[in-house]
Amino acid sequence: MNELADLIFPNIDKTVADYEKMYPARELKEGTIVTRFAPSPTGFIHIGHLFSSFVAKKVAQDTDGIFYLRIEDTDQKRTVENGITNIIRDLKNYNITFNEGMISETEEIGNYGPYIQSKRKEIYQTFAKELLKKGLAYPCFCTEEEVNDVREIQKRRKDRIGYYGEYAKYRNFDEQEAIKKIKNNEPYVVRFKSMGDYNKKIEINDAIKGKLTFPENDLDIVIIKSDGLPTYHFAHFVDDYLMHTTHIIRSDEWISSLPIHIQLFKTFNVKPPKYAHLSPLMKIDETGSKRKLSKRKDPESAVSYYHEKGIPKEAVILYILTVANSNFEAWYDTNKDASIDDFKFDFKKVSSSGSLFDYDKLLNISKNYISRLTAKEVYDGVLEYAKEFDLEFYNLLTKYKDYSIKIFNIEREQKKPRKDYDSYGNIKDQVFYMYDELFSDVTYDFDEKINKEEIKKVLDSYIEIYDENDDKDTWFSKMQNIGDNLGYCSNIKQYKENPDNYKGSIADISNIIRVAVTTSRMSPDLYEILKLLGKDRIKDRFNKAIQKLENK
Ligand code: GLU
Repeated sequence: MNELADLIFPNIDKTVADYEKMYPARELKEGTIVTRFAPSPTGFIHIGHLFSSFVAKKVAQDTDGIFYLRIEDTDQKRTVENGITNIIRDLKNYNITFNEGMISETEEIGNYGPYIQSKRKEIYQTFAKELLKKGLAYPCFCTEEEVNDVREIQKRRKDRIGYYGEYAKYRNFDEQEAIKKIKNNEPYVVRFKSMGDYNKKIEINDAIKGKLTFPENDLDIVIIKSDGLPTYHFAHFVDDYLMHTTHIIRSDEWISSLPIHIQLFKTFNVKPPKYAHLSPLMKIDETGSKRKLSKRKDPESAVSYYHEKGIPKEAVILYILTVANSNFEAWYDTNKDASIDDFKFDFKKVSSSGSLFDYDKLLNISKNYISRLTAKEVYDGVLEYAKEFDLEFYNLLTKYKDYSIKIFNIEREQKKPRKDYDSYGNIKDQVFYMYDELFSDVTYDFDEKINKEEIKKVLDSYIEIYDENDDKDTWFSKMQNIGDNLGYCSNIKQYKENPDNYKGSIADISNIIRVAVTTSRMSPDLYEILKLLGKDRIKDRFNKAIQKLENK
C-alpha cells in the first residue's frame, strides 16, 4: 500500500498528525459555536446565501463564538473574477462580517487557514495518502462511460445506483496492476473504500430537522479528483475537522450525503460536528404551487434586487429573521427598540420543511421599519439610494436638504407614524409634488362630479384667506367657512344625514385643494404640505391646475 500511496502522492511528506498539531483545538468556552459560510467564489449572493450566512453568524455571535469565511473553489468552473471580493462586499452590506477567513481575493486572517480550498491541496492529499496507506482508499480507473454502463445495469436490475460493493470495479484491484496503470499515465481518481454496511442504520440528530435515520454509507465515493483536488465531501470533512467547526449550517441539499460525511469523520476517529440543515426558501408561483425560489426564474432571489429597489438592509435582515425563527416576529413586536442582537436564535424554531418567501411581507416589514426612522434617517437613506439610482432626485435632495427633511417629517416622529414608504426607491413617486422641478406634465385627479367653475371658485376663495401662520385649527375652520359659503356642508355627519341639501361636504373642499397642489386625492397631512409649499407656490399650483382645467 505504501508503494501505491507514494506513487500517487510523491510530494506529500507530512502526516495527518502533523496537521493536527498545526491546528490544535480552539481554546473556547464550552458551548461556543464555531461555524462558517462556505460559498464557491461565484460572486453571486442569493437570498438563500444571505439566509444561511445570517443564521450562521447569528448563532456564533450569540455564543461569543467564531464565524469564518471559507472559499470552496475546487470546482474551477464556478470561479469568477472578483468573486470573493463581491461576496464579501455584498455580505458586509448586510452587516455579515467574519472573525476569520478570506478578506479579499488573496488575503486572509486567522490561524486555521488557508481558508481557500485551492491552497489546501497538500492537506487533502495528506489525508488521502493516509487512507491509501491503510488500504481505505484506492485509485479507480473507470472511464465516465464505464460508470454510466454500471448505472444502466443497475437500472435494469432495479438495483441501487452507485459505485459500491460488487459494482466497484477497482475496489479490490491488484496493487501492482494499479501501479502499472498509473506509471502508464492512465487517468484515475482516488476513491474511499467504504467499510459501511447498507443494511445497518445510523442515526443523526440534526439541530433543525431532528432525529434522522439513514442506512450506513457503502458508496466508494471519489475523494480526490483526477485534477488532484478533493470532492466536496472530502474537503468538507478535512476542513471542518482541522478548522474545528462545531456546527455545519448548510442547505439541506446535502442531507442525503450525511452518512458519507459521518463515515469520513469516524474513519479518522474524529467526533463529527453538529449539523443544522436549512430548508430552501420557497415561493408560491403563478399557478399557486409551492416551489423553491429559483435563481433563474425569480429576480427577487438575488440580493442585488433589494439594493436596486432601495429596501433598507435592516428591513431585509428583519425579514430574514422573521422567516428563520418562528418566534422572532412576536419578540420584535414587544421589543421594537431592542437590537436584534438581543434576540436569541433557536435552531428548534427554524422551519424544517421550507419557509415561504413572501415578498409582500418583506415590503410590509420594510414599511414598518421606515416608518420608525427619523426624518433625517429617511433623508440619508433615500439620498444614498438616489446617488446610485436616481441622479435627478439626488440633486434635488442635495439642493433642498432641510426642506426635504421637513417633507419626510410629515406625520413622522410621532406615536403612530404614517406608513407609506415601503422602500427608498418608491419615495420619489410619493413626494414628487413637493418639488417644483418634478411638478410638470401632471394629470389631476379632480372628482368628476365637480365642474371646473366650481373648482376654480373654491381655489380662488381659498387663496384669498390662506395664511401660512394659521395654526391647524384656524386653518381648518377657514376651510369650513369657505365650504359653508359655497354650499358645502362643513360637518360630515350632518352631510351624510341630508346629502341632498348640499353641493357636497368639507371633504370635497379639501380634496379640491389637495388635488390642485399634489394632483392626487390621497396625501399625507394637507396642512403640513401647504405650510411647506408656502403661499406663493400654492398660488402657482392653483393657477397651473386652473389652466389645465381650462385647456381640457
Ligand atoms: N460550497 C458548498 C455549497 O455552496 C458549501 C456547503 C457547506 O456549507 O458545507 O453548497
